[in-house]
Amino acid sequence: MKAVVDQETCIGCGLCPSVCPEVFQMNDDGKAEAVVDEVPGNAVDSAKEAEGSCPVNAIIVE
Ligand code: SF4
Repeated sequence: MKAVVDQETCIGCGLCPSVCPEVFQMNDDGKAEAVVDEVPGNAVDSAKEAEGSCPVNAIIVE
């Protein structure tokens, strides 16, 4: 399972790194990005939660 953050859409609210720091971190542009290639098994639920919680639907986890 992979996670992708659309850099054009992300508004840098900081929610996803707080919900799932194993996968998402803020980058130098103030946007979130996925820092792992594969979502670790123990982070799938929180990565999905971040996907569902992003206010601008910038996250895809699939
Ligand atoms: S929750 Fe969405 S808008 Fe907020 S930092 Fe993450 S990807 Fe960006």
